Amino acid sequence: MNGAARPPLVSVRGLSKSFGDHLVFSDVDFDVPAGSVTAIIGPSGSGKSTMLRCLNRLEEPDTGEVVIAGTVYPAGRKPVDAARTLHADVGMVFQSFNLFPHLTALENVALALRRVRRLSRGEAAERARAGLAEVGLADRAGHRPSQLSGGQQQRVAIARALALEPRVLLLDEPTSALDPELRAEVLQVLRRLAGSGITMLVVTHEMRFAEQVAGDVLVMAEGRVIEHAPPARLFSAPQHERTRQFLKVVR
Ligand code: ADP
Ligand code: MG
Repeated sequence: MNGAARPPLVSVRGLSKSFGDHLVFSDVDFDVPAGSVTAIIGPSGSGKSTMLRCLNRLEEPDTGEVVIAGTVYPAGRKPVDAARTLHADVGMVFQSFNLFPHLTALENVALALRRVRRLSRGEAAERARAGLAEVGLADRAGHRPSQLSGGQQQRVAIARALALEPRVLLLDEPTSALDPELRAEVLQVLRRLAGSGITMLVVTHEMRFAEQVAGDVLVMAEGRVIEHAPPARLFSAPQHERTRQFLKVVR
């Protein structure tokens, strides 16, 4: 669904980020509508990961602000209270899963619930079990990451992020580390999630997924968001030459 008519859950205003004298992006503005999926695409090195990391403050932006569910997080200031609401509001799924290798699937999900949500051991385990069932892994709760396929590991990471009930879920190339035959199971989970009304911002090279699931697609290149449109328009009639070049390579 095109998100244009929906109120934004996340607003990015005038956001800039450099590493030393390398400008990654400058003065970026966009909105992520509540309850829809926004896909970020663009060439390698265009700042897609840095953008997500600036949204959850794994990186500190240089200028601008991020507004999440009405709370303003300005660049360059990290009040402790704000950091806490940000942590609770924004979930993250990484390309490389980032599970604790010495913990079981259940323990990986439960640990987040105990640490962030302060749940008791029993309550955390119960919710973790339910979360694993939702991603089709009820029977893998006792397995360690090394005993799971990449697709299963990523589904555990998704369950872990969702268990914290974030307002917005950020996903950074969630299927890029997976063999093609394992991508489908993760994309299927994401498709189902998208239909559930959660707000997602996903960096992806899966153009078909973006086309079918995203309400809006952002193209990052040349230190900016060069294009922002519903997929039907973006893929059929890209406005920017750089977008056309990129789509020719990835599709
Ligand atoms: P993308 O995810 O689109 O491939 P990234 O956000 O990872 O791009 O990187 C954007 C640019 O910023 C790249 O040139 C990358 O080398 C640089 N970069 C990313 N993280 C750092 C960092 N921590 N320190 C220095 N440069 C970085
Ligand atoms: Mg990246």
